[in-house]
Amino acid sequence: MAVEHAGCFEMEEKMARKKIIAGNWKMNKTPSEAVALVEELKDLVKNDEVAVVYCVPAIDIVPVVEAVKGTNVEVGAENMYFEESGAYTGEISAAMLVDAGVKYVILGHSERRDYFKEDDCLLNKKVKKAFEAGLTPILCCGESLEQRELGVTMDWIRLQIKSDLSGITADQVKAMVIAYEPIWAIGTGKTATADQAQEVCKGIRDCIAEMYDAATADAVRIQYGGSMNAGNAAELLSKPDIDGGLIGGASLKPDFGKIVNA
Ligand code: PEP
Repeated sequence: MAVEHAGCFEMEEKMARKKIIAGNWKMNKTPSEAVALVEELKDLVKNDEVAVVYCVPAIDIVPVVEAVKGTNVEVGAENMYFEESGAYTGEISAAMLVDAGVKYVILGHSERRDYFKEDDCLLNKKVKKAFEAGLTPILCCGESLEQRELGVTMDWIRLQIKSDLSGITADQVKAMVIAYEPIWAIGTGKTATADQAQEVCKGIRDCIAEMYDAATADAVRIQYGGSMNAGNAAELLSKPDIDGGLIGGASLKPDFGKIVNA
């Protein structure tokens, strides 16, 4: 009975968190291709119960913001720099994103951590700056296959979360999104099982409860990302601690609409 009651309580908390399905387009789509994709997906992603976000390459932001006007879709960036302005050739500031109509920003994607050597110290500065500017961070974390096999998945992810959120307030955490993305599942076609994904997403929520409090842990939205597709989305999204998905490959196809409505 007590277990049944606990289950109901978990479901109520989950329902209070609006699901968020975000596409990470990565380095795909020229501006004109981006506008065509928005048009192609427009009717497929209609769903007011879910927050739908397209995180697009920097050069696509302005045309995509224009193209999604009047739809349920919001626009995110895939990265930003933490400095206000100045001599940082090639970088884009939080204020520039906000001025262009961007609402979300992916921070700490494993591709940026790996190829561009972004560390937790830098990411902590980026998270702070995103909040200061009024952007909602989608903070990514996740383990490598080697770390999973060594049994240090949760130790690693707790380290990432604690470092990246250092100095971030409970109210800010309540408003943000954390994406659990096992590196071995990104772009590989290998998805974490729904139970594996749930276990880590619950571990992240427990870590937030320890760092802040139960109300903050109940409010923060935690996505799963890693080869999510139209076939596996419903099972992953049915888990009590998975509040949405960060989707790479499948966000560029009509399949994205099926995930939004899974
Ligand atoms: C991602 O890059 O965030 C991602 C989840 O990619 P994919 O869905 O292609 O695995």
